[in-house]
Amino acid sequence: MKFAIIGAGLAGLTSAYELRKQDKDAVIDVYEATDRIGGKLFTVPFEAGPTDMGAEAFLARRKDAVEFFTELGLADSLVHPSGLRSLVYSGGETKELPAGGVMGIPAQSEPVAHLISTETAARIDDEANQDGIDWPVGGDMNVGQLMRERYGADLVDHVVSALLGGVYSCAADDLGIRATIPQLAEEFDRLAEAGEKITLSGAVKNLEAARPKPAGGKPAPVFGTFRGGYAEAYEALAEQSGADIYVDAFISGVEKTAPGYRITGGEDKVYDRLIIATPAPTTALLLKNIAPEASAALKAVKLADSVVVGMRFASAEGLPENSGVLVASDEDGVHAKAFTFSSKKWPHLGERGGALVRASFGRFGDNTALRADEDDLVDWALDDLQTITGFDGREAGLEEIYVQRWFGGLPRYDETHLATVAKVKQLIDDQPTLALTGAWSGGVGVPAVIADAKAAAARVAG
Ligand SMILES: Cc1cc2nc3c(=O)[nH]c(=O)nc-3n(C[C@H](O)[C@H](O)[C@H](O)COP(=O)(O)OP(=O)(O)OC[C@H]3O[C@@H](n4cnc5c(N)ncnc54)[C@H](O)[C@@H]3O)c2cc1C
Repeated sequence: MKFAIIGAGLAGLTSAYELRKQDKDAVIDVYEATDRIGGKLFTVPFEAGPTDMGAEAFLARRKDAVEFFTELGLADSLVHPSGLRSLVYSGGETKELPAGGVMGIPAQSEPVAHLISTETAARIDDEANQDGIDWPVGGDMNVGQLMRERYGADLVDHVVSALLGGVYSCAADDLGIRATIPQLAEEFDRLAEAGEKITLSGAVKNLEAARPKPAGGKPAPVFGTFRGGYAEAYEALAEQSGADIYVDAFISGVEKTAPGYRITGGEDKVYDRLIIATPAPTTALLLKNIAPEASAALKAVKLADSVVVGMRFASAEGLPENSGVLVASDEDGVHAKAFTFSSKKWPHLGERGGALVRASFGRFGDNTALRADEDDLVDWALDDLQTITGFDGREAGLEEIYVQRWFGGLPRYDETHLATVAKVKQLIDDQPTLALTGAWSGGVGVPAVIADAKAAAARVAG
């Protein structure tokens, strides 16, 4: 059997690895447009050690991801964060990021009182007395709209957009509840099914009450990463897949042919089965000839650009004892949307000495940072870091710097996204030799991308 996979990001490489497990004799060819594998996973060899400029962590609560990395032989490479708290910069001040609630949404005002006006606090505390939310079972809504209607603008602009933006590079107003806070959508469904009044504070309270209490002892770590950076994972996948991986191989089109699919670009080759593991707009283009309706539907998925500036300083003196800081989405005068104090967040990076800081820029609809030149980005990163934390990076000795632009870094998971994905999948249902996967398909987080890629491989292998 001959398989082609387009895209050597996490989804493409995971698919290749899974196909190899199913069929050790299969021909598996992976085509990658750029000159390297990994896609949004990208470990850069800083002098101080390997440093991630794309994804930097994964949700280790997802046991399936930990099991997958263990199966790859990487269990000994897994490391966990220090557990230091994060901050939020709002109203020109750096404050504690509230704990509890659901994605920064509290059941009452108390945990967020330091971030909102007294009017907003009163509004949150009275929300349960207002008319219920009109929510059909299985419904969806824009996160920003829900928050603004129920709790007012303060909280969404000061906290929730910043938290969601850290994961999705989108403000709350560009994200859907079911895709990004699924537990909240499911609780609304449950209340709707039971015919109970639905309020935001009530649903969050129920979710907090249902949260398993930590058993005695040390709680299991929520996040993990690799001592040597994500390269450990994507290189292991590439090697263990035994696939032939062609880099600098931009695939410009796919056609149906007698045994399966002909891919074009570089060399024209014919395969029995095909997995397309590229970002949504590229996948839409590649589907044009083989699944035109799915192609048209997928064009609805838009991408958010971002930029990461990695900075290594000789001294860490003055850098706060925190994991990082998120910037409120309505904050004027700073360009960055977040800083990760990587050497504080990750003990294995702290051991290198000095300080490692990642500045992140860009949200959906705002590509100012993406278009900015490198000197400006570095200046913004240093100036913003000093404004927010007081840490003077120039004084601390800037030893290494890396600027990574992520054109179309992440797909926008708005309130129409899940329906779009379901439609696209349904429109290719009659082609079991074709599978589509990637961050747009089953979720943006690393564990979700792995799970989706496994499903794609199982579909075409079967
Ligand atoms: C800045 C940033 C930080 C992130 N941080 C985290 C994090 O900490 N934790 C987490 O869980 N997730 C994080 N994510 C999300 C996660 O990294 C991604 O969702 C995931 O890596 C996407 O993998 P993918 O294979 O779907 O897509 P990609 O990584 O985009 O891979 C697709 C590949 O297809 C190639 N390609 C495109 N077009 C063609 C073509 N025509 N022909 C051939 N090849 C083509 C691309 O070059 C690319 O290599 C982050 C994402 C970004 C951008």
